[in-house]
Amino acid sequence: PVRVRFAPSPSGYLHLGGLRTALFNYLLARKTGGKFLLRIEDTDSARFVPDAVDDLVSVLSWAGLSFDEGPGKDESLGPFYQSERTKIYKDHVDKLINDGNAYRCFCTSERLQQIRNIAQKSGKGVAYDRHCLYLSQKEIDQKVSEGIPFTVRLKTPEGVVTVNDLVYGIVEFNDKHIDDTILLKSDGYPTYHLANVVDDYLMRITHVLRGEEWLSSTPKHIILYKLFGWDLPKFAHLPLLLNPDKTKLSKRLGDVKIKNFAEKGYLPETLINFVALLGWSPDNSKKVIFSMKELISEFTLEDIGRSGSVVMNDKLDWLNKQHLLHKTESKDGLKEIVNLLKASVNETFGERLEDEYLSNVIMTIKDRIRNIKEIPKLCEYFFVNPNYSSQESQSLRKIISNEILKSTSDLILKKLSDLKDDESEFQIDNIKSIIQNIILQTGYKQREVLMSLRYIITGIKVGAGVAETMKTIGKETCLKRINKVLE
Ligand code: GLU
Repeated sequence: PVRVRFAPSPSGYLHLGGLRTALFNYLLARKTGGKFLLRIEDTDSARFVPDAVDDLVSVLSWAGLSFDEGPGKDESLGPFYQSERTKIYKDHVDKLINDGNAYRCFCTSERLQQIRNIAQKSGKGVAYDRHCLYLSQKEIDQKVSEGIPFTVRLKTPEGVVTVNDLVYGIVEFNDKHIDDTILLKSDGYPTYHLANVVDDYLMRITHVLRGEEWLSSTPKHIILYKLFGWDLPKFAHLPLLLNPDKTKLSKRLGDVKIKNFAEKGYLPETLINFVALLGWSPDNSKKVIFSMKELISEFTLEDIGRSGSVVMNDKLDWLNKQHLLHKTESKDGLKEIVNLLKASVNETFGERLEDEYLSNVIMTIKDRIRNIKEIPKLCEYFFVNPNYSSQESQSLRKIISNEILKSTSDLILKKLSDLKDDESEFQIDNIKSIIQNIILQTGYKQREVLMSLRYIITGIKVGAGVAETMKTIGKETCLKRINKVLE
C-alpha cells in the first residue's frame, strides 16, 4: 500500500509550494487508498518559527488535507516530531560508524572555512578533504575523551549515483560532486539527510514526493539507503514554481502565507484547485476547474510535468468565482459561504443578520462577485441605507431627471402600498409587473425608470436586477428608502 508523507520544517509558515507538496502527497494517498503522514522536521532549532506548526496544522485542516498518521493522530510509528527522535538517529549513525561507512570529524569551523577558501580559489567543488577519515582509533578515542566536539560525516562511496525519478527520469550524479555530508551535528541533532532517510524508512514511506529543490539531495539519500541495506522508496520531484517572467518564484509571490489567502476570502477549494495545477494537468484535457473529489480521481504521477510552473495569481479570482458559484448550488455549500459573509459583515458593520437574509443576498448577487469579502464593500446597500451624498450616488443622481425620479418614486410608493401589508405579495414577478406598469403609464424609457429605482434602492449604478434586489432587501426597507428620496 502507498504511504506518503508531508515533511515540512517549521522554519516558516505554509505557502504555495508547501501546500502543493502536501496536496500531491494527499492526492496520491487518497487515490490509491494509501496513507498520508505528517512529519515535522524540526531538528534545525536555529530556523525554528514558534507558531509554525500550529499554522501548518490549521492550514492543512482548512484546506481539507487530513492526515492519517502524524502528531495527534495515529502515532504508532511516531513520534512525528524529529526533535523527539534523536536517540533513533544516534543509533543509526553508530551503526554506520561501526560499519566503516561514516566517521567522526573534529575539524574546527576555522579549518573548514580554510578548506572552503582553497577549494574556491582552485575552482573545484567545495568538498571536505577527509582529514578526519584518516585519524587512528587511538586519536579518535583520545579526542572523544577530551570532549572535543565532533560531527559525523558520511563516507561517500565512489561511483556514480543514479536517481530514477518518476518525474525527471534517470538523473546521474557523479560522486566527485557529492561531499562527505554531515549526518550528525555537534549538538547531537541529525541533519536533514540522515533524519529524512531514517524516518522515511521507519515510517515505511513508499513514495517520496517533494519539490524539485530536493532532487540534488537525493543521491545522498540513495547512498544512505544502500549503506543501511534498505530498499529505496520511489522518488517524484515536483517542478519548480516560477514567476510570470519564468524566474524562480520570488519571495513576494512565493512567500505569501496560505493564511493570508484565507483571510482575503479565498475559498479552500480555490487554493487547492490553484496549486493542483502548478505542475500537474490531466492528460488530454483542457479542464481547469476541479473539486477535491475530481482531483483525487484524476490525479496521476504521470501527468506531472518537468518544466517549471508559472504562478499566475490573477487566476485566483476567476477560480474563486467558479467555486463560489458551485457552492451556491448545494445547501451545505451555501451555508458555508453564508458563514463567511456573516463574519465579513460583522467585521464591517458590526451587525448581526439572519442567515436567511445573508443567503438571499448571496443568491441575488452571486453572478457579480468573485469573493465573499467583496460583498460588504461592493454592495453596502444590503446592510445599510444608501449614502446618497456619496460621490458615486451623486454622479448617478446627476444623470437622472428630477421629473422622472419624482414620478417614479410617487408611483412605486403608491403601488407598493397597494400590496398586502405583509411581504406575501412582494414577489419578484409582482415587482417586475409593477415596474412595467410604471413604464407604460408614464411613457418613460425602461432604462430611465430602472435607473431611478436603482438609485432609490441602492444609491449606486451597478448591481443585480432591480426587482431581485428589491425583493431581497424587503418591502419595508424599500418603502423607507423611497420616502427618504421623496423628502
Ligand atoms: N523538511 C524538508 C522540507 O522542509 C522535507 C523535504 C522532503 O520532503 O524530503 O521541505
